[in-house]
Amino acid sequence: SERTLVLVKPDGVKRGLVGEVISRIERKGLTLAAMDLRAVERSVAEEHYAEHKDKPFFGELLEFITSGPVVAIAVEGPRAISAFRQLAGGTDPVDKATPGTLRGDFALETQFNLVHGSDSPESAERELKLWFPDL
Ligand code: ATP
Repeated sequence: SERTLVLVKPDGVKRGLVGEVISRIERKGLTLAAMDLRAVERSVAEEHYAEHKDKPFFGELLEFITSGPVVAIAVEGPRAISAFRQLAGGTDPVDKATPGTLRGDFALETQFNLVHGSDSPESAERELKLWFPDL
């Protein structure tokens, strides 16, 4: 069994889609190991998105992720990392995410793509330590 970090980003919380995200995680057969609705400190946002610090959209990304509360979830199950990436759909909600995925069904813009999911075992370990240090 494996753990991954899922975030319902501020757009998802504002739009009332937290239940939808959790519901799809549970229906897939994954389980919730920890969950928290919280404001995102700038330092946590910078650390979380450190790999994008030289990208042109980094500033916007930090503004957005700190613009309102997020729901952070530690999700557990067999191949949880890939399983959630599949539920989320591709990063671009129109060109990459297909209908039936969270982004394909509920998002239109890459910047406001509803959810985050760790992309590798290394990322998952790093991100879970950052968001759930006591887990
Ligand atoms: P996440 O890390 O949030 O799960 P991802 O792994 O699908 O997303 P990344 O390429 O790691 O995608 O990008 C991280 C996040 O940065 C995206 O989810 C999106 O919110 C934002 N982002 C990526 N590309 C762009 C872009 N061209 N313009 C604006 N925002 C972007």
